[in-house]
Amino acid sequence: MRIDVVTIFPEYLNPLDVSLVGKARARGQLGVHVHDLRNWTHDRHHTVDDTPYGGGPGMVMKTEPWGEALDEVVADGFESGAHGPVLVVPTPSGRPFTQELAVELSARPWLIFAPARYEGIDRRVTDEYATRTPVYEVSIGDYVLAGGEAAVLVITEAVARLLPGVLGNAESHRDDSFAPGAMADLLEGPVYTKPPEWRGRGIPEVLLSGHHGKIARWRRDEALHRTSLHRPDLIERADPAAFDKKDRETLSILGWAPGADGRFGRTAYTVEQ
Ligand code: SAM
Repeated sequence: MRIDVVTIFPEYLNPLDVSLVGKARARGQLGVHVHDLRNWTHDRHHTVDDTPYGGGPGMVMKTEPWGEALDEVVADGFESGAHGPVLVVPTPSGRPFTQELAVELSARPWLIFAPARYEGIDRRVTDEYATRTPVYEVSIGDYVLAGGEAAVLVITEAVARLLPGVLGNAESHRDDSFAPGAMADLLEGPVYTKPPEWRGRGIPEVLLSGHHGKIARWRRDEALHRTSLHRPDLIERADPAAFDKKDRETLSILGWAPGADGRFGRTAYTVEQ
């Protein structure tokens, strides 16, 4: 996969040199190219922003540097053999970034990120590129950051760990929270490692039993418990077919019952820890 990032703070992307993403780059599984937007300005002050039409506070990023930058980044990428570019624009008004979207983006060969500052980029830039490439406007959460670079780091890490061969153990992301499959749309429960006792705290005995069936059941119950506590919306939205008989027993203990349409809802307000 090839990744290009156009930003006014190239150094903000330095973390892409380390850890999982850094290793994937070193192994040639991922090519990352960071570009300074100000290289495509032509005035003495390297201006990238201007006042908003219609008035109001804040500044808006200008069309010209973004247009020139993206044109050149796309042309250079094609020249080096890249294909299938997709423009990713981080914005709090975008579609929520989810594991499902990470999987979708990980199947693309080339992501070009356009993280903004100030009040965002003049809308015409996104509209213009949408006529040439798929554009994903993506929000990493219901809060407002000062700029999109942190969102680029988040999205890149979530996508990179899904690329073939990037994780040491290919099964590591199979049981992740939100992973499609065994734990479909449930949060992952707690995890433990050695020593078996720490500051008087042991670990659940079942994990030492060596009994794979019981361990899997315990993990599933913990996942149901945690999801019920932190993300009840995931249980409400879940396809009832995702829950087996044992799941249903656990959900009942946690205060859930199937409604007329089979989907689970709270039976009563339940205090959980
Ligand atoms: N006025 C804009 C709004 O309310 O939509 C917020 C602009 S914010 C100060 C500047 C930039 O930070 C955004 O254009 C975007 O690139 C990035 N940003 C801020 N919050 C974000 C979020 N939750 N997800 C993704 N990008 C975000």
